[in-house]
Amino acid sequence: MDSAPVAIIGAGLTGLTAAIRLAEQGVKVHIFEAAPKAGGRTRSFYESKVDCLCDNGPHLLVGAYNATEKLLQDCHIAHHVSWQASLHLPLWDQSRGVFHFQPSTWLPFHISLLKAVACLPGHGKTSALAMIKLATTLKSNMHESVTVKGWLEQLSMPDALIRDLIEPLCLGAMNENIDTACALSFRRVLHESFANHKQARLGWFTKPLDQALIEPLCQRGQELGVELHLRKRIRSLPQQHGMFQIDEQAFQQVILALPAYATDRLLGRPTACETRGICNIHLWFEQDIHLPSLFIGALGTTGQWFFDISAQIQQSPARHLRHYCAVISADQNTQDDLKLVNSILNELRIITGTHTLKPVHYRIIREKRATVLVRPDMNKYGLPKAIIDASERPRPGDLPATIEWAVQRGEQAATQCLKRL
Ligand SMILES: Cc1cc2nc3c(=O)[nH]c(=O)nc-3n(C[C@H](O)[C@H](O)[C@H](O)COP(=O)(O)OP(=O)(O)OC[C@H]3O[C@@H](n4cnc5c(N)ncnc54)[C@H](O)[C@@H]3O)c2cc1C
Repeated sequence: MDSAPVAIIGAGLTGLTAAIRLAEQGVKVHIFEAAPKAGGRTRSFYESKVDCLCDNGPHLLVGAYNATEKLLQDCHIAHHVSWQASLHLPLWDQSRGVFHFQPSTWLPFHISLLKAVACLPGHGKTSALAMIKLATTLKSNMHESVTVKGWLEQLSMPDALIRDLIEPLCLGAMNENIDTACALSFRRVLHESFANHKQARLGWFTKPLDQALIEPLCQRGQELGVELHLRKRIRSLPQQHGMFQIDEQAFQQVILALPAYATDRLLGRPTACETRGICNIHLWFEQDIHLPSLFIGALGTTGQWFFDISAQIQQSPARHLRHYCAVISADQNTQDDLKLVNSILNELRIITGTHTLKPVHYRIIREKRATVLVRPDMNKYGLPKAIIDASERPRPGDLPATIEWAVQRGEQAATQCLKRL
């Protein structure tokens, strides 16, 4: 395409997706990334003490991530994701031990879902009926200010169902507690994820994110002629003769592929966006620990999800250490590192039925602004027409900040940009 090049600010998943989709149409693209490498929040780091590439935190995919799946297929990396045959959510709590939320595949999905709920220990017909009630309100009108908790109260949802399923799902999907999470967006997640057996299953990358996702996307971009400029933090967007001047080059269109607070900073305006952290406690052991599954959701514990990273990732670190990771979503934990690691070790010891646990190494990654929360649109600032805002700034009814939403935003920005060229 014979047009002036397009600048993309940010080489996370949103920016890389936009770049690939534009370059596929023959548009010349330059990406400017502040960090020394691409990937943003889906990145890996090298942990020298155990000689392994390690993700900032484990990333799960949902079968409903259609745009992501298509992107992976187009870039020939769909085989880097391992998918469950159908939904299986292993759970644990102190009194019931390990139990499984696992709709059976031989029944139509919605019937199998109700049966799986009824079969959870301590549940039964009451929970199944409550699920039917919930399902019938997934598309009804609702004000954007209603919280998940408010919605559940309207439905008189049993506490046991909230504790065992809805709260863990809300934390995992929205990175926010039910007390404040937006019901409209959470309902959309439930509606899309619990549509059928295929959409409901979970998937994970079988290599660290750098190798499974980011490097192949960068390579695909490079094949298509995308120029990636690393260590280039863009601090302003000056215009000259109707063109944006970035790094001594002129651009007709600019796509902002940043979290909202970074966009606001770049545009020199105050930010009002709320974020939540995710804390990942990485542990390496010489001993083999038996986690009942590749990952397990723990109820009533500090660690909400425990992952057996060694079993997920086909890479063995030096000395054949076993790598596990505990995840705390919507993290507001103020415990010091040693206390936190000891709490997590104690929980892992009980869940796995191990007598003593001695890690050879640990690393805590606190992603303080892991996701921008779903909030009503308070943004009163306009943008010049030639800037396309693909920022992570989810509004009520949007998907929450996830891989899928990043890919969708990247694709939408590319489409919008193509229309204007
Ligand atoms: C620990 C953790 C676990 C997660 N788990 C999951 C999960 O299980 N499933 C799921 O679907 N999602 C998960 N997510 C969310 C997912 O990672 C993000 O939604 C997604 O990666 C966002 O991509 P992005 O490109 O929009 O933003 P980012 O990845 O933040 O990319 C923005 C890029 O812009 C760069 N940048 C910032 N300012 C500037 C500037 N001024 N100039 C140039 N460059 C700049 C940044 O360095 C960054 O590389 C998780 C996130 C975290 C942090």
